[in-house]
Amino acid sequence: MASIFTKIVAGEIPSYKIAEDENFYAFLDINPNAKGHTLVIPKREENKIFDLSKEEYDGLMSFSYRVAKALEKAIPCERIGMSVIGLEVPHVHVHLIPINTMADMQFVKKDKLTNDEFKTIAEKIAENFK
Ligand code: AMP
Repeated sequence: MASIFTKIVAGEIPSYKIAEDENFYAFLDINPNAKGHTLVIPKREENKIFDLSKEEYDGLMSFSYRVAKALEKAIPCERIGMSVIGLEVPHVHVHLIPINTMADMQFVKKDKLTNDEFKTIAEKIAENFK
C-alpha cells in the first residue's frame, strides 16, 4: 500500500508544499515542533534512509540543504536542526526544524497553527528557495 507521503506526492492528499524537483519533495510537517518544521522526502518510496542508494541519499541531502537555506531566510531562529526518525511514517523523510532551544528538537512540544498560518509560512519559505 502506498505511504501517506506517496499519496501527498501524487496529490491525493493535500500538503503545504515548499518545493519539488523530479526526485524530491518538501512540505510542512502537519504537527510541527516549531513554525516552519519541514519534511523533505524522496518521491520514490523507501522505508529507511540508509536503504537509499548513495546517489539518492546524496540527492536528498543536497535538496535538504537548499530547503534549509530557504528556511533560514524565511523563519527567524537560532539555527536549523535536522533529524531523521521514521518510526511513524515508513517513507524516508528528513525533518528540518527552525530551532531556538533543545526542546524544539524533542518532538514533544508542538505548535498549533491555523490553515492560513501554514499557507503563509509555506509561501514565505518557497519564495526563498533557490
Ligand atoms: P516520524 O516518522 O517519527 O519521523 O514522524 C513522521 C512525521 O510526519 C511527524 O512529524 C508527523 O507530524 C508528520 N506527518 C504525518 N502525516 C503528515 C501529513 N499528512 N502531512 C504532513 N506531515 C505529516
